[in-house]
Amino acid sequence: MLIPTRLVENWSQTVATTAEELKASSAHLRGTIAEELAGPEAAFSAEAGQMLKFHGIYQQDNRDERRDRKLAGQPLAHSCMVRCSVPGGVLTADQWADIDALADDVGDGSLRLTSRQGVQYHFVNKGDLKELIRALDRGLVTTYAACGDVVRNIMVAPAPLSGRDPGRLQELADALANRFRPRSGAYWELWLDGERAVSAGPVEPSNDEPDETVEPLYGATYLPRKFKIAITWPGDNAVDVFSQDVGIVPIEGPDGQPGAVLLAGGGLGRSHTDPTTFPRLADPLAWVPEPLVPDAVAAVVAVFRDHGDRADRSHARLKYVVDARGIDWVRDQVERRLGRRLADPVPLPRWQHGRTALGWHQQPDGRWFLGLAVPSGRLRDEAGNARRQAVREIVARYAGHVRLTPQQDLLLCDIDPADRPAVDRVLSDHGVPQLQQLTLATRSTMACPALPTCGQALGEAERILPEFTDLIDRLLTDRGLADLSIETRITGCPNGCSRPYVAELGIVGRTKTAYDLFIGGDPAGTRLAQPLIEMVPRPKLADVLGPLLDRFRVERRTDEGFGAWADRIGGAGLQEGLPSFRRPGAPRRAAVGA
Ligand code: SF4
Repeated sequence: MLIPTRLVENWSQTVATTAEELKASSAHLRGTIAEELAGPEAAFSAEAGQMLKFHGIYQQDNRDERRDRKLAGQPLAHSCMVRCSVPGGVLTADQWADIDALADDVGDGSLRLTSRQGVQYHFVNKGDLKELIRALDRGLVTTYAACGDVVRNIMVAPAPLSGRDPGRLQELADALANRFRPRSGAYWELWLDGERAVSAGPVEPSNDEPDETVEPLYGATYLPRKFKIAITWPGDNAVDVFSQDVGIVPIEGPDGQPGAVLLAGGGLGRSHTDPTTFPRLADPLAWVPEPLVPDAVAAVVAVFRDHGDRADRSHARLKYVVDARGIDWVRDQVERRLGRRLADPVPLPRWQHGRTALGWHQQPDGRWFLGLAVPSGRLRDEAGNARRQAVREIVARYAGHVRLTPQQDLLLCDIDPADRPAVDRVLSDHGVPQLQQLTLATRSTMACPALPTCGQALGEAERILPEFTDLIDRLLTDRGLADLSIETRITGCPNGCSRPYVAELGIVGRTKTAYDLFIGGDPAGTRLAQPLIEMVPRPKLADVLGPLLDRFRVERRTDEGFGAWADRIGGAGLQEGLPSFRRPGAPRRAAVGA
C-alpha cells in the first residue's frame, strides 16, 4: 500500500495530512503490522513503520552501512529500536533484572537509558520483536505509546531525597500514564495474542464501535504529534519542566489547599531549514486543586488534539498553538472543557540544577540510594569497565528498585546503610568510576543516540561524547578553570532529544562533520540558549570554545557561571573574536517569564 497524498477530513473535522490519513485508516493502530510481521521480508513497509511507533518501535537502518549498501544496490541493513515506557522511570529490582537479561537475547547487548526515563534496545531484528514484547509484558513492562502521536512517557523528578514523599508524584504519574495510554486493543492483539497484562489499565471497548468510543480522548487520528508531560517538585528541575508540553508542579494554592501549578507550551524541537520552527519555554497556565489535576491535564491534551496543526507535522506541537494564540486563550479553552474557571498560577520558588542525584544520598526512610553516572545512558560492558554487570549484581543483592533519570543516569535505591561498602566494592571490582572519579565535564554533558541508529541524525552525538568531554576538560584545565561545570548537551540533529536549547552550551548536529552552537542557557533549565555559530567543523570546536573560555575567565563576575556570563554578554558581543563561521539570526524567546 502506498501512502495516499490527497488531503482528507478527520473525525474532529480538521484538515488531515497523509500521516493523518494513515492513522485514520489504521483500524486503531493496527495498519498492516500483523501481515507484515508474519511475512518473510526482513523489513516493514514505511506505512507499517509509522504505525509501529505507537507500539514503541522505530524501524531504522544502520547508517554506517547505508551509503555502501545503496552504492552496491543492496537492501538497507534494517533493524528496530524498541522503547519501554516507564512512568517516572521507576522499575522494581525484578523488572530491571528482566529488562537487563533480555539485552543478552536481542539487539547489540546494550541498554540505552533515555532522556525521558525510558529504556531502549537497539538493533533488534524484526523476528525478535514479538518475543521481546511478550517477555517485557510478563514483567509488567510495556512499550505501548512509548513513541507515536500520543502522550509519551510521563516524567517525574527522580531523586527520592529526604523531606519528600516520592510516592506522591509517582501515583500521579501512574494515573496519568493509565489515562493517556491508547484504549485500542491493537497492542495486545498484535504482540500478545490477545492477552492483557495486569498492568494494562481499563479494558478497551470493541473496535467495531465508533472511533470516539474506542478512543474517547484520541479518536481515530490520535494527536497531531507527540505530547510530553513531566511532574516535579517545586525548585527541582531535573525534568527540564519548561521544555515539556505540560509541566505539573505540586504546590499549595493561595488558601493553603493542595494542588499544582500547570505549565504549558514548552518544546525544543526545531528545524535547521525552517525558521518558523523554534524552541520555546512553557508558560504558567493556572493553579489547579489536586483532585482536578488529571482532568485539567486531559483538557490541555484535548486543546492540542483539536487545535494542533494536522496539516504540517513540523508545526504540530502545542508550543505553536500557545505561541500563536497566547496562554490566556489556551487557558480559556481548558476552562471551557472543564466547565469551571481556574485560579491564576501561584509563584514558584527558584529552580535548581537538576543533576544533583549522583553519588550517595539518604532516602526519607533511612535507606540510601546511589546515583550512578551512565555516560550517554549507554549501559554495556566494556574492557576495564563492566558497568552493566556491576549494576546487575548490585540490583540482585542490594537494591530494592531502580530509577532512571532524565539525564540518562541510574539511581540504585533502597540500599541498607550497612551494604554501602559492599556496593562500592562491586563498582570498583568492575572498574566503574564513582562520582568523585568523574571529571566535571563527564558529569555535566549529555548526548542523544544519533548515529548509527537514529534515522533523523545528521551527525554524531553519543559516539563523540568521550572525545568531546576530553576536549572540554583540557580546555578548562589549560585555563585554570578545572572546577567549572558547564551544563552541555550534544545532539545529532535539531530535534533536540538531549534538550540542548536549555543548556549552557548546546552542540547540535548540522552535517556529518559540522555543528551549530547554542550558548547561554542556565544549569537550572529556565533560560533558552541563544544561537551562536553555525556549521563549526568538528575539528574546529576548540577554536570556538577556547576563545570563549578565555573571555569568560577574564570577564566573569564573582560566582558567575558560563551560561550566565554568555547571557549577560549576548549574541553579537559573544561573536567578537571568534572564527568567521556562518552566523544565525536572533532567538525567538529568551527566558522564563520573558
Ligand atoms: Fe535522533 Fe535527533 Fe533525537 Fe538525536 S536529537 S536522537 S539525532 S532525533
